[in-house]
Amino acid sequence: MKKYNLPVILLNGIVLLPHNTLKLEFDSKNLDNNVIDMALLFHDNYILVVSEYSENTKIGVLSKLENILQLPNGNTRVDLKGIRRLNIIEFLNFKSNDPLESIVSEIELEKIENEDIIINKLKKELKSYVNNIPYISNGVLSLIDKETSLDKFTDLVVPNIINNKNRIFEYLNNISPIGRGEMLLKDIYEEKQMFQIERNLDMKVKKELDENQKEFILREKMKMIKEELGDSSKDNDLDKLKKRINELDCPKKIKDKLNYELNRYESCVSMSPELNIIRDYIEWLLSLPWNIYTNDNNNLKQVKKSLDESHYGLKEVKNRIIEYLAVNQMSNNKNGSIVCLVGPPGVGKTTLAISIAKAINRNFVQISVGGIRDESEIIGHRRTYVGANPGRIISSMKKAKSNNPLFLIDEVDKMSSDYKGDPTSCLLSILDKEQNKYFSDNYIEEEYDLSNVFFILTANYIENIPEPLKDRLEIINLSGYTEYEKLDIAIKHLIPKIINKNGLNKDFIYIDNDTILKIIRNYTKEAGVRELERQIDKIIRKIVTQIVVNNIKLNKIIINEQNLNKYLGKEKYKYNEKTKEQVGVVNGLAYTPFGGDVLPIEVNYYKGKGNLILTGSLGDVMKESASIALSYLKANHKYYKINYEMFNNDIHIHVPEGAIKKDGPSAGLALTLAILSALTNLKIPSDLAMTGEITLRGHALEIGGLKEKSIGALRSGIKKIIIPFDNDITDLPKEVKNSIKFIKVKNFKELYKVINNGRI
Ligand code: ADP
Repeated sequence: MKKYNLPVILLNGIVLLPHNTLKLEFDSKNLDNNVIDMALLFHDNYILVVSEYSENTKIGVLSKLENILQLPNGNTRVDLKGIRRLNIIEFLNFKSNDPLESIVSEIELEKIENEDIIINKLKKELKSYVNNIPYISNGVLSLIDKETSLDKFTDLVVPNIINNKNRIFEYLNNISPIGRGEMLLKDIYEEKQMFQIERNLDMKVKKELDENQKEFILREKMKMIKEELGDSSKDNDLDKLKKRINELDCPKKIKDKLNYELNRYESCVSMSPELNIIRDYIEWLLSLPWNIYTNDNNNLKQVKKSLDESHYGLKEVKNRIIEYLAVNQMSNNKNGSIVCLVGPPGVGKTTLAISIAKAINRNFVQISVGGIRDESEIIGHRRTYVGANPGRIISSMKKAKSNNPLFLIDEVDKMSSDYKGDPTSCLLSILDKEQNKYFSDNYIEEEYDLSNVFFILTANYIENIPEPLKDRLEIINLSGYTEYEKLDIAIKHLIPKIINKNGLNKDFIYIDNDTILKIIRNYTKEAGVRELERQIDKIIRKIVTQIVVNNIKLNKIIINEQNLNKYLGKEKYKYNEKTKEQVGVVNGLAYTPFGGDVLPIEVNYYKGKGNLILTGSLGDVMKESASIALSYLKANHKYYKINYEMFNNDIHIHVPEGAIKKDGPSAGLALTLAILSALTNLKIPSDLAMTGEITLRGHALEIGGLKEKSIGALRSGIKKIIIPFDNDITDLPKEVKNSIKFIKVKNFKELYKVINNGRI
């Protein structure tokens, strides 16, 4: 191996690694100046840097002298640029006064397999290390970002993250890049662990400090409160209560009761658990509006106007409400019936009730009785019951702050009853004008007059309202909106409302009609407009956030079909183009909580024992419809040209989507046709839908919810609907009647003729 001489500079403990640079200043009187001269004159600026001299020093760093500067005081300033490790074979002149020299030889670099993988691993660890530990500068990451040599990589990283001089020295003496890589990994792991331990310790100490401090502050406060109140707290309270009771405008009976309870409170010892119970009870009696009323606005023209302002359309609903108010005025509120708004969610039932309250100048309160089984939720628990409170009626009256609010009771179709009582009969007595004058809550005990309250109820399904309650109600139906009605509501109500809520100028946002229709069609699926409102709200919120965060000044923002997905993401609903004809699949129509919808009914048959298999979460009534359909076809197989042998097959009827519960008799016609189609290969147009109950003799019976169903059908691209003869279509929206052809049939035979003769 080739050996050669190099002048040596001893750094006395400072470690210079290859690929790093060190700035040094040499004293003019120092021997080192001569070494520099030697390097410059005879060695092309090359020099050997030795960090620490000892007998065993075997590694030095070949370095180049750069940027040499003679300072006025004779000193020399240089940059020492480390290049590579060299083996030191021998030092010369060590004991003489001549400049130190060495005999060195090159070190052969080992072969490194998978160098890139090792480097990537190191980079990854290093990144997480640097990002986790706050006091390490992330400048080192840019140094090694593109580095592909492990040798250079380790030498560049070490001085940046290792503080311990001896450890750096070990790196210097390790001539294997792989060995140095391993050392580095180990060091990074250890450092990370150390940091974690330190941080945990810090947090623990901080938490203990915080807790001590919290306790201290609380104790101090408690001391102060105790000092402040002393024993006089109850006396003070008594005085205040006495004053409030005197001032309370309420029936004499209530005042007597309050005074009685106050005496009990006074005589109760402070430590008694009774004390708080009595105190709470007094507070409840004091906070109810016994004799506080708001004055009705009887100007019905004005009321109509404000309803028109707050809600689009709903003409008939509004007229019925005005009629109801007029009759009530005439009969001085003695009219016994109660309005119940029935319709799918989001069609404006609640907000309409709020608008009525505003228009006739009544306070508004609302409760939901959906899911209530236990009547004590409505009329409270007795005071003897631990943690007793009044029921929802009295709690709402307290919130109402007046004795004659408009009281909305939601979801009366979702009550159920069990052994704990029957909420329906409880509700009936609350609504009854004869009885509700003397309403009694279990907790309050005293009668509270509810006869001035204006009750309005809401429900989604008229069928599910308990019968005795339904008898007492004046039902007003609000059906779902068509797309164009939704468009109008969006333009005239929702968008201005949301823009206003966000404090924007009314011309600031421009959305054209096609874009709104796209939101309606592809981002919502509902009978009402609640989801539509949410989507528009989402768009506007995003715009407002952008403006505020980026401090943008804009006069107008245009939202169109192209940039819509920027605000709302991918389309949620897609309406597929219908295939032309199909066998064994018939579109039924359903009335779901989201409004009307198309319900495809699928039928398959296969070799079996003549069983009927039903899937798709069908309720009992729907299952019976399927049996009726099959029996009817069996009985009339000749007429429909069905080979009777076909009924030996197992017939499978499925109604997607499988997880959603479906029930009711109105799929009878569709079920029958779907079986017939499967068994005889009869082709059914896929833009056709039908609804109607079927009897065992094949008669088509009238069904409910046609309006909702036809709106849903229109949304799904249905062009023709077969309906029972007795169903009326005069009330259907114009838009529906313009786009969908309705065909009335008296029985299944007629339906069959319509399809078989190609009238469709
Ligand atoms: P429901 O009580 O029937 O579930 P809401 O009264 O809560 O429905 O109405 C949902 C939202 O739709 C409300 O913001 C309401 O203002 C709006 N909305 C519904 N119908 C109309 C309408 N005809 N005109 C204006 N806004 C409407």
